[in-house]
Amino acid sequence: MTAEPVAAEGRTLIVGSTGFIGRFVAEASLNSGRPTFILVRSGPASPSKSHAIASLKEKGAKVILGSITDGEFLEKVLKDHEIDVVISAVGGGSILDQLALIHAIKAAGTVKRFLPSEFGHDIDRADPMEPGLTMYKQKRQVRRALEGAGIPYTYICCNSIAAWPYHDNTHPADVLPPLDCFHIYGDGSVKAYFVAGTDIGKFTIKCIDDDRTINKSVHFQPQSNLLNMNQLASLWEKKLGRTLPRVTVIEDDLLAAAKEMRIPESIVSSLTHDIFIKGCQINYTLDRDTDVEVTSLYPEASFQTIDECFDEFITKVVDSPVVVAKIVDPPVAVIGEPDGDDSIVTPNPGAKALAVTATCA
Ligand code: NDP
Repeated sequence: MTAEPVAAEGRTLIVGSTGFIGRFVAEASLNSGRPTFILVRSGPASPSKSHAIASLKEKGAKVILGSITDGEFLEKVLKDHEIDVVISAVGGGSILDQLALIHAIKAAGTVKRFLPSEFGHDIDRADPMEPGLTMYKQKRQVRRALEGAGIPYTYICCNSIAAWPYHDNTHPADVLPPLDCFHIYGDGSVKAYFVAGTDIGKFTIKCIDDDRTINKSVHFQPQSNLLNMNQLASLWEKKLGRTLPRVTVIEDDLLAAAKEMRIPESIVSSLTHDIFIKGCQINYTLDRDTDVEVTSLYPEASFQTIDECFDEFITKVVDSPVVVAKIVDPPVAVIGEPDGDDSIVTPNPGAKALAVTATCA
């Protein structure tokens, strides 16, 4: 593997920076010192969207109002601002909107790299049940359009966000791991890669100037972050200082939730099935010319471990009276006690004796 190139300071346009993944990418771009432009849809904004825009602006982002569906406008933006790199993190409902973006990039002819909205599995390999499959087919359509247009690209296959993988939650990193009981998919033995959102942003930005990632799929496979659900549950129990009951969610339960076709929750259920029952993150080898693995590219750069991510969650438990109240009120059953290991992080001294309400069905 050749040495990591010195990062250039290319002008970068980020689409979807007010979204869940896009925010991490935009912040990493700004942290790297790159001139960063964010395309933001106009119209009524939620308080969280307004907050995200204000915060990115404060860090130096230049805001451009508009939508990727407006091709002519976009072409002008790309030329006027001499954009070198475009990164899209539009959500699952807007994947095909990127076809207009590809058209504009091709017409402008100045963009050196485009990263479409991927940020998950290698969608040419994984084969989830519906409705996840429809989203993958759309992402595949975007890949083929991009390759056909001859625009240099990089596909970020970062696997799972580091958090408890709730099967009915689109943004699990926003939610604490369970405080009452664990829902374990299957026998809980299938492993997955859990990557912190900040690392998804950081390594995405590292890739965009790197010649080794041109026209490649970059797989995020840090071995320190490869865990199964049983291990994840045990780790969280250590942080909590108590054990929690475990309820098995069988394959048919996940498939039934997927079949309900509640969008986006059913998409998450079908992907959860693909990860924790079928093993879609670990059932292939990186044997294609187009595969590169991120820890091999940047061996000197560390990944935040899931252990460290859970430390951040436990801080939130300690800091939140509402969460502590959820644990203690009403005290129905003491599920377990700390095992006396000094290395265990306990939310607060009182928590060792707290009772846990088991609300799992
Ligand atoms: P979100 O729904 O949170 O955010 C989408 C963003 O795209 C918003 O900022 C939205 O703007 C913007 N957007 C949508 N359409 C347009 C448009 N036409 N023009 C300009 N901006 C637009 O998306 P996610 O972060 O959930 O998803 C991003 C990607 O990451 C997806 O590919 C998804 O599959 C993947 N993902 C991966 C996860 C993982 O664990 N690996 C977890 C979650 C997502 P506005 O605010 O105006 O709506």
